[in-house]
Amino acid sequence: MTERTFSIIKPDATRRNLTGAINAVIEAAGLRIVAQRRVHLTEAQAKKFYEVHAERPFYGELVAQMTAEPVVVQVLEGENAVAKYREVMGATNPANADEGTIRKQFALSIGENSVHGSDSLENAKIEIEQFFTEDQIVG
Ligand code: ADP
Repeated sequence: MTERTFSIIKPDATRRNLTGAINAVIEAAGLRIVAQRRVHLTEAQAKKFYEVHAERPFYGELVAQMTAEPVVVQVLEGENAVAKYREVMGATNPANADEGTIRKQFALSIGENSVHGSDSLENAKIEIEQFFTEDQIVG
């Protein structure tokens, strides 16, 4: 089934000029980048985006990291895009990520782990709507 998922290339990656390298991994996996925009998240945007983690000890650090430098927000489209992108990203902690995954190749730590990807189709829809209107997504 063709799906859309939401991706963020995080500040640790944009800072190291890795947008193109990460996009190459995404495209090689057969996912199409059907919307993409560079944005410097405000504190309010980052807090809202990660509000499910508000009670976690790392929340403050996560919000600080996500607002430190610009990010690239993206919509990816393809067969089973949500699960496929989770596979391509690799485990949250790069120490546990499989060879060839984005996080294995590029992540610095469990916090600065280079990319975000939606964890369900339902969340993908919610997250896409936070950053893109339907007319900005060109499949
Ligand atoms: P994922 O991004 O793989 O879906 P989570 O939803 O569990 O992972 O966490 C969201 C983000 O919060 C992670 O990508 C990472 O940047 C940060 N994070 C998660 N766990 C930790 C932790 N133990 N310490 C620091 N940062 C963390």
